[in-house]
Amino acid sequence: MDERDVPWADLPRLDGDLLRSEYARALAADDFGHLVSRRPLAVLRPGSVADVAAVVRWAGDHGLQVAARGQGHSVYGRAQVADGIVVDTRPFDAVRLRDDGNIEVGAGATWRDVAATALRAGLTPAVLLNYLDLSIGGTVSVGGVGGTSHRHGLVTDTVTELDVVTGEGKVLTCSRDENAELFDHVRAGLGQFGIITRAVLSLIPAPARVRRFTLRYAGLAELAADQELLLRTGRADHLQGAAVRADGGWHYQLELAAFHAPGREPDDADVLADLAELRPDAQVEDVSYREHLEAFDRFTALLRSTGEWSGPHPWLLTFLPGSAAVQTARGILDDLTADDLGDHGRVLFYPLSTDAIATPLARLPDEPVVYSFNLVRFASRPDAGRAAAMVRQNHEVYGRVRAAGGTLYPVSALDVPLEEHLGERWADWRRWKERADPLGVLTPGYRPPA
Ligand SMILES: Cc1cc2nc3c(=O)[nH]c(=O)nc-3n(C[C@H](O)[C@H](O)[C@H](O)COP(=O)(O)OP(=O)(O)OC[C@H]3O[C@@H](n4cnc5c(N)ncnc54)[C@H](O)[C@@H]3O)c2cc1C
Repeated sequence: MDERDVPWADLPRLDGDLLRSEYARALAADDFGHLVSRRPLAVLRPGSVADVAAVVRWAGDHGLQVAARGQGHSVYGRAQVADGIVVDTRPFDAVRLRDDGNIEVGAGATWRDVAATALRAGLTPAVLLNYLDLSIGGTVSVGGVGGTSHRHGLVTDTVTELDVVTGEGKVLTCSRDENAELFDHVRAGLGQFGIITRAVLSLIPAPARVRRFTLRYAGLAELAADQELLLRTGRADHLQGAAVRADGGWHYQLELAAFHAPGREPDDADVLADLAELRPDAQVEDVSYREHLEAFDRFTALLRSTGEWSGPHPWLLTFLPGSAAVQTARGILDDLTADDLGDHGRVLFYPLSTDAIATPLARLPDEPVVYSFNLVRFASRPDAGRAAAMVRQNHEVYGRVRAAGGTLYPVSALDVPLEEHLGERWADWRRWKERADPLGVLTPGYRPPA
C-alpha cells in the first residue's frame, strides 16, 4: 500500500507514539544480520498494551502486517515488515521481583536487566543466554538455548506466564493453567500467534562463585565423548563447546563450569576425573557468578574492536541428533575454510538432554541427546558478495544437517519454508494460526517473500 493511501486518521488515539520519520523506518528496516532490509510504514513506540492491541486491530482492518521488535538481533529480517508496522517492545522494560520468588518482566526488558534484579535477591533465571542484551520477548518467541540448557531446558521451559496480544488484537494472559494451548503456541512460536508484552519467569538460587574450565581436545569425537560423560554424570553446571580455526586447522574446546559457594570450592581433580582432555592446555579461572554471566562481553568487545560486530552476520544455528552428531559435524567442518568463518568465527558444538526440554514448538531431533551445532561467522562489511555466498552455503550445510535427521534453530540466516521446519506439527500450526491470527497480520518475516 502506498504510504499516502494508509488511513492514518482511522487510528485510535494512542498513549505512545507512532513514528513515521525516515530515521525510525530505516532503523527498523535493518537488524544485527545486515542481510535483509524491509522498510515499514511506521514504528509504534507503545505507551500501553492497549496501544499494541489497537494497532494490531487497525492493521488487520486495513490489510497491513505487524512485527514485534525487541533488540533487533535477528540476523535475517525476522522482526521486519515491508509496508507494515513494527512494534518496538523496548518501552515494556519493567522488571519486578515477586513475593512468590518469580520475576515479572516486560517483553522489551533484556536478560541483563533481569539478571541484575534477580541477583540482588540472590536468585537467577535457571537458563541465561551467553549474550545478555537480547529481549525477553525476542528470546521467548524462538526458544533460548544457554550453557545450562543441558540441565534446565530452554528459556521457554522456565516461563510460567505470558501476556499476549493476539493477531486479532485480543489481550490474553496464558500459562499452563489458563489458555494453555495459546501458552504452548506462543513459546517458540516465532511471533506467529501473538505479541508478548509481559512474561513471568521462574528463578532458582544463584551460586556465588563459578570455577570455569576451558579444556582442549585433539578431535571432535574426543570432545563429544567427554561432553556426554559430563552430561551423564551431571557434573557440569554449565556445558558448552566449540571448534575454532587456528594454525590452518581446527581446535576443539570444551567449556565447563562448576558452581559453588565461598569456602566450598570444588576439587578440580573430581570435576575433571575420567576426562580425556589435553590437561596441560587446560585454562581454569574462579570468578563470581556475575563475572561468569558477563564472560561473553569480552568476546563482543573484541568483535566491536575489529568491526565484526557491525558487519553482516550470516549465522546458521541447528540441532544434530546425538547418534549422527560427530560424523555429520566432522564432514561439514572438513569442508569449511577459515574464510567461511571470518576472523573470529567459531562453530559451537555441545550436547543437550531432550528430557530437559518440554517446549512443544521447539523443533529438535527425536533422540535423548541432541547437539547444538552453530556456525557463528562474520563477513566483512565491504564484501557484500561474501555474505551472500555464506547464506548460500547455509542452505547447503542445512541440507546436510537435515539429511542426518537434524533440525533448524530458526534464528538462522536462511529461508526454510515453515511447513518444512515444522514437519508433523504443521497441521496444528496452521489450525492455530487460523485461530489466533486469522488475517495473517503477525510477523511476516518468517515467510519468504513470494
Ligand atoms: C550476539 C548474539 C548472541 C546470541 N546468543 C544466543 C544464545 O546464546 N542462545 C540462543 O538461543 N539464541 C541466541 N541468539 C539468537 C537470539 O536468541 C534470537 O535472535 C532472538 O530472537 C533475539 O532477540 P531480540 O530481542 O534481538 O529479537 P528481535 O530480533 O527483535 O526479534 C526476533 C523475533 O522475535 C519476534 N519478537 C520479538 N519480540 C517479540 C515479542 N515481544 N512477542 C512476540 N514476538 C517477538 C520478532 O518479531 C522476530 O520474529 C543470539 C543472537 C545474537 C545476535
